[in-house]
Amino acid sequence: MTVAALILFGFLHIEQLPPNQSTPADSMNADDITGLHPTVEKNMNELVEKTSDIGISIIITDDYRSKEEQDKLYAQGRTTEGQIVTQVQGGESMHNYGLAIDFALEPEPGNVIWDMEYDGNKNGESDWMEVVEIAKELGFEWGGDWPGFKDYPHLEMHID
Ligand SMILES: [Zn+2]
Repeated sequence: MTVAALILFGFLHIEQLPPNQSTPADSMNADDITGLHPTVEKNMNELVEKTSDIGISIIITDDYRSKEEQDKLYAQGRTTEGQIVTQVQGGESMHNYGLAIDFALEPEPGNVIWDMEYDGNKNGESDWMEVVEIAKELGFEWGGDWPGFKDYPHLEMHID
């Protein structure tokens, strides 16, 4: 990736402040969901711990998003100002069901990067891909594996 592409990539994926971290009860009805699914939250916390164990600091840039927030995000770059940051409307994103998170690397506090080639723990492997590998072991599906539109910071879980 070129530097320009990386800057653009990072810019495109700055979404919004993380919403509240409260977990839904045991309902899977989207309208009742107000936060991350407990299993997703548990695996998210494990991802942060396991990556930290190998010298990679990550930040969760986005988790649960309400339908209203999703619609607002969808409007951005279409009917409101800014860059297009999402392809889906309210109710269509796994973020609306508390089943998805987005991550980025944070090598130093406050320095958030979306550099997929960065090797901060100097083990010869891309930190980004090391995070993805651990996430997959925890049961996450990675947006970078999607055909067509790829969402590299995105991780989601499929829970019945
Ligand atoms: Zn996402």
